[in-house]
Amino acid sequence: MNDLIIAGSGPAGLSAAVYASNAMLDFVVIEKFPMSGGQILNTYDINNYPGFEQIDGFSLGQNFRKHAEKAGARFVNDEIKSIERTNGGYSVICGKNRYETKTIIYALGAAPRKLGVKGEAELSGRGVSYLATCDGNFFRGRPVAIIGGGDVALEDALYLANICSEVYLIHRRNEFRGAKYLQEKVIKNERIRILYNTQVEEILGENKVESVRLNNGQTLYVDGVFIAVGSQANSSLVEEFCELDRGFIKADESCVTSADGIFAAGDVRTKRLRHICTAVADGANAVYSVEEYLKKINTQ
Ligand code: NAP
Repeated sequence: MNDLIIAGSGPAGLSAAVYASNAMLDFVVIEKFPMSGGQILNTYDINNYPGFEQIDGFSLGQNFRKHAEKAGARFVNDEIKSIERTNGGYSVICGKNRYETKTIIYALGAAPRKLGVKGEAELSGRGVSYLATCDGNFFRGRPVAIIGGGDVALEDALYLANICSEVYLIHRRNEFRGAKYLQEKVIKNERIRILYNTQVEEILGENKVESVRLNNGQTLYVDGVFIAVGSQANSSLVEEFCELDRGFIKADESCVTSADGIFAAGDVRTKRLRHICTAVADGANAVYSVEEYLKKINTQ
């Protein structure tokens, strides 16, 4: 039986892997794809991770991964299908194998939230996208709209302004939620047209996106619609064990959840700021909590 299974290889999981190696725990990191980084893989320009003035998400993810491997972490590529409680802890049931463990650091992150308007599901992959850095190139030289007002929407707008003919940034309020320095860059960028106090009511098109209908009656003719309206936690595998708050696993900085032996780290847990530096801090804290928990159960 393992001391620990780390589920996920985003910044939280990889930081936990370094700390768990240093703590000499018997553990495995389970990742769905051999492509560490999680959501940061979709970020092309990171400038708020201390020690790196500017780095892209893929490179930072690879650095984290190499560090964890060098520290001694073992990675397996497998998809977690379910988790069951056992006498000694948990059984993590994957597509290829099953892993017995005393504890789990659950760091499966979050996924883009849907906007929930007509046409979104029908035209998803046909002009509707949730990942500007992956799909932006398909819209080179063409007009696009971005929906949202957080860091992701602002970053997407800046990225797409370099490659698309016209960029409309549609936000439901008159003030952005994202970081001030990004707001400044977006507002200064002459290729981005900001539509404040505006909502998309429908995305239209026969086989691909042709336009969006706005709540002010206006129609914008665009080939691509990038939706960046926040994220939802990938918490379904532990929802029967852990208390949730709007889908996020309830846990404070200690990463201790309501379920004995399950620790939530990174974007999947309740927290104020979902940034890379807060995710890696969670990885460290979660391992500390695992060590305390193992000491407790081993002396019982
Ligand atoms: P977010 O910060 O939650 O922002 C979501 C945006 O979407 C908000 O502006 C919100 O509007 C808008 N929105 C939500 N539901 C909507 C709806 N139904 N219709 C129209 N607009 C809607 O999400 P995010 O931008 O995806 O960022 C997620 C987390 O990752 C954040 O904590 C962010 O700081 C972090 N992040 C950090 C970095 C970085 O540090 N470089 C980069 C990317 C992401 P309201 O403002 O009106 O609520």
